[in-house]
Amino acid sequence: MEALHKKIREEGIVLSDQVLKVDAFLNHQIDPLLMQQIGDEFARRFADAGITKIVTIEASGIAPAVMAGLRLGVPVIFARKHQSLTLTENLLVASVYSFTKQTESTVAISPRHLNSNDTVLVIDDFLANGKASQALISIINQAGAKLAGLGIVIEKSFQGGRAELDAQGYRVESLARVQSLANGVVTFME
Ligand code: 5GP
Repeated sequence: MEALHKKIREEGIVLSDQVLKVDAFLNHQIDPLLMQQIGDEFARRFADAGITKIVTIEASGIAPAVMAGLRLGVPVIFARKHQSLTLTENLLVASVYSFTKQTESTVAISPRHLNSNDTVLVIDDFLANGKASQALISIINQAGAKLAGLGIVIEKSFQGGRAELDAQGYRVESLARVQSLANGVVTFME
């Protein structure tokens, strides 16, 4: 997706060979017009997949997920990272090791919002080693819902997450595929 590639080239900051900082438009400040374009592109790619729900993870997945949900006309559920007194029912939970924070945590979704009648599109901001995606897939499986595929804003293809999802047979649509961050330069796959 050219608009996203351009934004990454112009405003992304390569923190190391492994980490790309995109605080200027996705992870802290958000570019609404770009998010709208991203949501439209996910909606276009999954238009015929029978999606009934989008599932993401708080916080940075929410903006692109909501834009896709708006275009597809379906609700967006974000997995919550912290226990809340308002979430009183038996939650669907999975543990996830955070790539950026290097800590293990749990994420949770209420079964009130996700069930075996749903066909789900997972959306997330980054795909690195795939831990966040695998946690969401586990929750979707616990709910008995069907997974139509995953929509990723920025995939770091040199880490293991994409290959694992491919091997599991899931459909993955990444709008930017980063081949390398070596020498402070972002190189894309296409
Ligand atoms: P994974 O679970 O696939 O290993 O990592 C995905 C999660 O880690 C994403 O939801 C994102 O929040 C965070 N993440 C992974 N790599 C990067 C990165 O290079 N930059 C930023 N800003 N976040 C990342």
